Amino acid sequence: MGRYESRFTRVVLNKYGKKIYFDQMSSHEIEERVKECDIVIVPCGSIECHGPHAPVGEDSFIGAYIAERVAYETGVTVAPPIWYGSHPSHHYGMIGTIPIENKQTYIDYVRSVCKWLIHSGFKKVLILNSHGQEYVLPIVKDDLIVKDRVKALIMVTSWWSWVRDLLAKVGEEIAPGVKFETPFIHADEVETSVMWYIGPDLIDKEKLKKAKAEKMVGVLKDKQDVYVDKAGNVFGKPFGWYDISQLPEVKYYPVGVVGDATKADPKKGEVLIETCIKRMIEFIEWLKKTYPPGVVPDVVPPVP
Ligand SMILES: [Zn+2]
Repeated sequence: MGRYESRFTRVVLNKYGKKIYFDQMSSHEIEERVKECDIVIVPCGSIECHGPHAPVGEDSFIGAYIAERVAYETGVTVAPPIWYGSHPSHHYGMIGTIPIENKQTYIDYVRSVCKWLIHSGFKKVLILNSHGQEYVLPIVKDDLIVKDRVKALIMVTSWWSWVRDLLAKVGEEIAPGVKFETPFIHADEVETSVMWYIGPDLIDKEKLKKAKAEKMVGVLKDKQDVYVDKAGNVFGKPFGWYDISQLPEVKYYPVGVVGDATKADPKKGEVLIETCIKRMIEFIEWLKKTYPPGVVPDVVPPVP
């Protein structure tokens, strides 16, 4: 048998031939890196059920994929992903879903990671969320500034925020011959298309045929679609889906899909994810020029 190569020991390089991942660098390499570029992306995903056809690591894989591609082009560093996530109540109980139950534990974990990345010299931290936990991550940013008083620029975003315009065009073409038929929810047409594009071998195409929610329901009954948004808050409704105690997934969506994954197509995922990456690269290039290594805006408030 030849030498076995673990996924974690395969060196991942950017287009300049330098390492992308923080955990693959030595401390000396980190010291050198931050002199060139002190921007780090922290992917925050989840391990959760994504239906019978897709891996439970889907959210973490999507976030890490985007971060890697952005880093490949721009020379920024990617921190080891935060694999496990924080979950709203309705996710609990599905096979494969591993929630970090205590919200404060999760917040403090991500906060510690960011704090010591900053200590290592990364003065711009981009927390890249890829799971329905955008309601907790801004607290990480505030705690770092107010409680830890770190002098760094901390930014929180989710991948879908970069393509909300495309996600809102349900039923309209987003590229020639490419359109989403259903709105973005969970393990559905949108998310499966993305996973299929970035990791085709991780999608079971046979099991996908049965990956459809039996019924679409909500606590606000016939007013659900009027008042409650779906994933990514792309429709500007008064409530985010995580703002209301929703019906438990394990009871109402036992297949593990909320939406219709049978309509997934890697071409749809390609348009979405390549647009997201392109827009994020444009932002990072602007950030690099505006705040060179070591330069940060004054964001720490005065002590009373
Ligand atoms: Zn997901």
